[in-house]
Amino acid sequence: MPTHLRFRRRSFLGLLFLFSLSTSALYFIYSAPGVVNEYLFMVQARGIQLRQNVRNIGAQVIEQVVRGAYSGINGTDYAYDFNQSETDVPATPYLPEGFTYLPTHVCPEKLPSMKGRVDVNMSEIALEEVERALQEEEPSLGMGGHWKPHDCIPHWKVAILVPFRNRHEHLPILFRHLIPILQRQRLQFAFYVIEQMGNEPFNRAMLFNVGFKEAMKDMDWDCMVFHDVDHIMENDRNYYGCGEMPRHFAVKLNKYSYMLPYPEFFGGVSGLTVEQYRQINGFPNAFWGWGGEDDDLWNRVQYAGYSVSRPAGEMGRYMSIQHHHRGEVQFLGRYTLLRRSKERQSLDGLNNLHYSPLVSRRTLYTNVSVSLSRQMAPVADY
Ligand code: UDP
Ligand code: MN
Repeated sequence: MPTHLRFRRRSFLGLLFLFSLSTSALYFIYSAPGVVNEYLFMVQARGIQLRQNVRNIGAQVIEQVVRGAYSGINGTDYAYDFNQSETDVPATPYLPEGFTYLPTHVCPEKLPSMKGRVDVNMSEIALEEVERALQEEEPSLGMGGHWKPHDCIPHWKVAILVPFRNRHEHLPILFRHLIPILQRQRLQFAFYVIEQMGNEPFNRAMLFNVGFKEAMKDMDWDCMVFHDVDHIMENDRNYYGCGEMPRHFAVKLNKYSYMLPYPEFFGGVSGLTVEQYRQINGFPNAFWGWGGEDDDLWNRVQYAGYSVSRPAGEMGRYMSIQHHHRGEVQFLGRYTLLRRSKERQSLDGLNNLHYSPLVSRRTLYTNVSVSLSRQMAPVADY
């Protein structure tokens, strides 16, 4: 073969190689946020664990030295356990079995019916079947999934908001699991599934703002729980009431090896009182696609002077429902927006959002269908 042809073929192969390299890089940036971010979070979480182990070992060495020195003086021993982790902290007492409360009393938060670890059933099931089973078990479960306890006054009236698009097989799994737990927790509750229509990238945060406004038109709620459809709690002592401070419920996820991926992580399931949510001007509307909106909410909460509280130990464990859906496109503009969280807080949120929803009452939830676009939440130049 003449040399110039060989050269051509080689440069062609080189180009082909570069092309495939860049397309796979693009794939990982745009289309596989789930895979990449899960991996990064896991690496991060393992890093944290490694550092903790190193610290523990260091502390143990120091302990031996200190202990040796003291026992030399007066023979007393240290009872402090440097290995103690969150998970070993003794559980705060729950009310004893058979404890009775009165219909005129506010329901306690630590009921004997909340036993801790619960089984997780991830098998797919038809929504109608779940509706039937739940209503048979508890006939007072009303349309829209409205329920309230009758043997005490609910401490919190909780609207559970679920952002949603094309995950129909997840809903029955979530309801089958969560509704009996909320009933055992003696909360008043209902579900709102906010479904994004249209072809824009998914906007979880804007859906929550819509859900908040629609839920408040429906009832005088005092607590909002922002709940991913694929998060299944593993411990029924993870109480879905609100508190003095905004709450982060989904602390330990199976997909992140049951470790908090980073200290400011605020994703999955969180809860704010209506007052707290209004105070922070809700979620930002400007996050289109996967990622960043939960970090912005964290920033908003901090700037409003709150700090986030989390359930201790094993209470914050969750499993994710496996799914075969393509991950949502990553939102690459999130870092730029996150740098200006503070300035944007008063400009973008509950106060600049205009939308027209389609609301329909279903058996276990209220469906709010809404088509989202950027024009619905204009932000003045800043
Ligand atoms: N979601 C949805 N359809 C989508 C993308 C997201 O319903 O196409 C909702 C759903 O409630 C989901 C949540 O938004 O649990 C977060 O999205 P995803 O589970 O893809 O994010 P990840 O768990 O990977 O952070
Ligand atoms: Mn998910």
